[in-house]
Amino acid sequence: MQKYIDQLNEAQREPVLQKDGPMIIIAGAGSGKTRVLTIRIAYLMAQGVDAFNILALTFTNKAAKEMKKRISDIVGSSEAKNLWMGTFHSVFARILRSEADKLGYPSNFTIYDTQDSVRLISAIIKEMQLDRDVYKPKQVLGRISSYKNSLITVKAYFNNPELQEADAMSKKPRLGEIYQNYVERCFKAGAMDFDDLLLKTNELLNRFPDVLAKYQDRFRYILVDEYQDTNHSQYLIVRALSDRFQNICVVGDDAQSIYAFRGANINNILNFQKDYDNVKTFRLEQNYRSTKNIVEAANTIIDKNKTKLDKIVWTANDFGPKIKVHRSMTDAEEGRFVASTIWDEKMNKQMINGQFAILYRTNAQSRAMEDALRKRDIPYRIYGGLSFYQRKEIKDVLCYLRLVINPKDEEALIRVINYPARGIGDTTVEKLTVAANHYKRSIFEVMQNIDKIDLKLNGPTKQRLQDFVTMIQSFQVINENQDAFIMADHVAKKTGLVQELKKDATPEGIQRIENIEELLNGIKDFTEGQKEVDGARGALSEFLEDVALATDLDKDTGDDDRVALMTIHLAKGLEFPYVFIVGMEEDLFPSAMSMSTRSELEEERRLFYVALTRAEHQAYLTYAQSRYRWGKLTDSEPSRFINEIDSQYIEYLSGEETNYRYKPMIDADIFGDVDKSKLRLSKPVGGAPPKYVTDNEPKSNLSVRKLKPMGNAPAAAGANLFDGNLTAGSTVMHERFGKGQIVSLEGVGADRKAEIKFEVGGIKKLLLRFAKLDII
Ligand code: ATP
Ligand code: MG
Repeated sequence: MQKYIDQLNEAQREPVLQKDGPMIIIAGAGSGKTRVLTIRIAYLMAQGVDAFNILALTFTNKAAKEMKKRISDIVGSSEAKNLWMGTFHSVFARILRSEADKLGYPSNFTIYDTQDSVRLISAIIKEMQLDRDVYKPKQVLGRISSYKNSLITVKAYFNNPELQEADAMSKKPRLGEIYQNYVERCFKAGAMDFDDLLLKTNELLNRFPDVLAKYQDRFRYILVDEYQDTNHSQYLIVRALSDRFQNICVVGDDAQSIYAFRGANINNILNFQKDYDNVKTFRLEQNYRSTKNIVEAANTIIDKNKTKLDKIVWTANDFGPKIKVHRSMTDAEEGRFVASTIWDEKMNKQMINGQFAILYRTNAQSRAMEDALRKRDIPYRIYGGLSFYQRKEIKDVLCYLRLVINPKDEEALIRVINYPARGIGDTTVEKLTVAANHYKRSIFEVMQNIDKIDLKLNGPTKQRLQDFVTMIQSFQVINENQDAFIMADHVAKKTGLVQELKKDATPEGIQRIENIEELLNGIKDFTEGQKEVDGARGALSEFLEDVALATDLDKDTGDDDRVALMTIHLAKGLEFPYVFIVGMEEDLFPSAMSMSTRSELEEERRLFYVALTRAEHQAYLTYAQSRYRWGKLTDSEPSRFINEIDSQYIEYLSGEETNYRYKPMIDADIFGDVDKSKLRLSKPVGGAPPKYVTDNEPKSNLSVRKLKPMGNAPAAAGANLFDGNLTAGSTVMHERFGKGQIVSLEGVGADRKAEIKFEVGGIKKLLLRFAKLDII
């Protein structure tokens, strides 16, 4: 143990050696917060604290697993085995299982994923005959989720006129009713959604003092990583559980708080000192992860935020290479640059794929990267997006399995009752749903009693419903003493799912069968793994719980050597030698949707801070001057964040200077009726010469001329312009100047300009790259 303590620096050692009492470690990225938590747990155990009494909450299950492994290495695996570690959701799902009856839930309750929740909300909106364009299911779910995370139950909602007014103001006066229906339907189906896992834990701890006492007594030492991103619901759980012993250690970095949009409350970290008595505060300042260039550049960024705790971050590491900024014409070219750079670095420096990460603001950006990596045969792995378990064929199997465990599970039932087709049509399902709502029973129970209820169904239909019930019940019998693999294999065959897929001989069809095989292999692995633990049988219910709570980062990649692609949000806490932050463009990053208030912009800036501080050795920032967004070719400007980094830390790559030359575009009369005397030159960005900007630009301090998307011109037309499809004499339509005829064309590539004689306004010279022209 001493060896590990010795490896810490002085500032890190202090919080490890401080055994009892409330404490907070606030420190910048890469300063060893997670490492301190890990060593602290091992040290507690070395001092005789029972693993059983320690609870550690992490951001991903993978982080928990890694932590447990490190602790096992130090204290031995039989000791570490009893540690309670995981995400809030997984830890409290486990607790809720054993206490479910107190809240009126079956212990085999289903955990609905987002897809299930959205489907159920859509169904409710339809049943209530509301307009889907006003009540957008995803938005409605978001709203319900934020209520739940603030512990606003349906009852509390209806007792709060302000909330109701706010929803009415946003044209959703019936949101409360949807909320109510949704909660009732989940309850009836024996299902909790993700937010319920926290909400119901709070309810459990509040309503049952004996249960609270039991877990307070059990979790004598509580540790929370990434505390800055806890929401109110999580905060209250931690508060309640730690109230008795007050041995609570939280670590976090206010500069890395990036989940406000999901209800995370940065005040949890800021107010920690007020919440407990005699809080010890520790600060770590030395970054061990990154080069000086990266650490100092990141400092200059976060300095721009007004809301922050003052912190110092420094490193004794080398200066390292400067941050490289790369500009390309299109997102496809950006992808090619990233792929070829990875290729070169691998060749020149003997790097492996796993040392590279490509981070982006939105999942949609992965496509261009994937295309380029594939062309170069560079293996990659995408985290996030549609996960394996959400693929249609996989989810179909899982829904059958969910029904075996919990036949009340309405979402699972609706999904598979007629897949593969067995002659149970939509009308029948509708009748069943209505009856189930009427009798306040599950659809499955209605089906079990189909003879006693008059739903005006014909004989054969009734028979089919009964057959379905019998099939599920026969699975339940097998499940009583078989493991998850035998069960899943049986279900895949007996339901006709596999036979159905075999009918489709297209490559996609074959892929689907392979996916099911992969699922079965995964289940096999799981059951074998479980059987090693205390003679457990690897039951189906355990497997389903794992699946429901698996975040994408959790999946074991083994030692698969692949480039990692993920959103910045997902990258929190991770580190990679090489990091590409792509799509560094205004309106993309910072996101157009998060720029309306200072606090939103500051959150975007923290996100950039998180992204940059993932890099150990080299960071690349890339941007494209045009990209396809929502199917349209859209012009873009470099992100203000590039400009916010002190230029001494940056090297502008000027690879394609020849086909890209920004010139002040005043001669092209792009400003229309703007008074030119009010224009000023912008700061040079990305190696590009300055441009004229107006002073009244609202959003950006980089403040380049705002370029609108390519109007309504079809994407293809926009693309054609680059190819020089225009000729002298063509008649064109300009968004602002109207109809005109091309007089002449000059320049190539990005520099290509057209002289156009407009019917109104005379001759103008326009850069084709920016002009919104339609050929007519
Ligand atoms: P983040 O804010 O990104 O979550 P963090 O503060 O949790 O970062 P860690 O991930 O714990 O930082 O540490 C960053 C890196 O520095 C890790 O690779 C870790 O092993 C290493 N490190 C931390 N402390 C030391 C130390 N005292 N000596 C050597 N390496 C260290
Ligand atoms: Mg960390």
